[in-house]
Amino acid sequence: SLTIGIVGLPNVGKSTLFNALTKNDVLAANYPFATIEPNVGVVGVPDPRLDKLAEIFGSQRILPATVDFVDIAGIVRGASEGEGLGNKFLANIREANAICQVVRAFTDPDVVHVDGKVSPKDDIDTIHTELILADLQTIEKALPRLQKEARLKKDTAPVLAAAEAAQAVLETGKTLFEAGFDTTLVRDLHLMTAKPFLYVFNVDEDALSDEDFKNTQRALVAPAEAIFLNAKIESELIELEDDEALELLQSMGQDEPGLATLARVGFATLGLQTYLTAGPKEARAWTIKQGATAPEAAGVIHTDFQKGFIKAEVTSFDDLVATGSIAEARAKGKARIEGKEYVMQDGDVVEFRFNV
Ligand code: GDP
Repeated sequence: SLTIGIVGLPNVGKSTLFNALTKNDVLAANYPFATIEPNVGVVGVPDPRLDKLAEIFGSQRILPATVDFVDIAGIVRGASEGEGLGNKFLANIREANAICQVVRAFTDPDVVHVDGKVSPKDDIDTIHTELILADLQTIEKALPRLQKEARLKKDTAPVLAAAEAAQAVLETGKTLFEAGFDTTLVRDLHLMTAKPFLYVFNVDEDALSDEDFKNTQRALVAPAEAIFLNAKIESELIELEDDEALELLQSMGQDEPGLATLARVGFATLGLQTYLTAGPKEARAWTIKQGATAPEAAGVIHTDFQKGFIKAEVTSFDDLVATGSIAEARAKGKARIEGKEYVMQDGDVVEFRFNV
């Protein structure tokens, strides 16, 4: 499955956040036989629609979609030169499908900042610089081979041109993601800054509802998403009962835990979406790529469903809630029959028909 690598300077709250994420782990509760790796947190993507479906269908349990966060141990300045944990760190990032940078914005004088001062912009620049330098090295290493290939096989010339264009972007100090660079032709180089980024600002409690402050930080990272949370409070929230947690959140002007926002935004950053199934046994969200067709969606349940796909009966979640049951939705013509070409939409409640 797709993973999000958590990175950041030392002492910004990564471990605190990651521990909260793993304690929030849905695997233990719902997938008792899955292997749980120490540096992977599998987090449920909160979806209130599943509760509603479980109510309509009398489902015994709810299985949300999940998103995998990987704790990538300590970046240090000079990582791109292979210093300290540098090489291992970069190898781990290469394997992740998206990068989540934790940025320190809390001011606690008891927690030392590696660079002596709290500056989200400098922290972001430091990490970007290491990743950009590593990508530049990758390209410089590949160029002689790409040049040779371009001489021998004319049709590979566009690959060389794309590598050179990526190099030019990186030399301006921008990540490829920031620049919106199309990396299709240089996919084989596994450039790190081409991955989608998102940013978690670990903020003081009073900043959680400070819109001016948050907008300033958002501007630093746009077009990437910014999430604001306090890692310490998140680690306290997961210890509380739901109603107590809600009360604490509301006292801080928040309507959901930061971890929930992070799971949802992370899921979308990976280019994923869900469709829903429901019955007496379970109400479930299944993970597909944005833009997946009905047979591809069926294949997520079982490869045989994809191979033998005949059609899908699709009711939108809203229509289902409005009519109150699948039978009523059918009677009112709200349950659509869709074929092989159908592109799945967010909130589709589906039943597949297939040959075995
Ligand atoms: P890491 O090095 O990035 O993994 O950072 P840690 O999670 O180990 O946190 C470093 C220190 O900062 C620890 O003493 C944490 O308790 C503290 N810390 C983490 N998050 C917060 C926060 O939101 N507010 C405050 N005041 N301290 C925090």
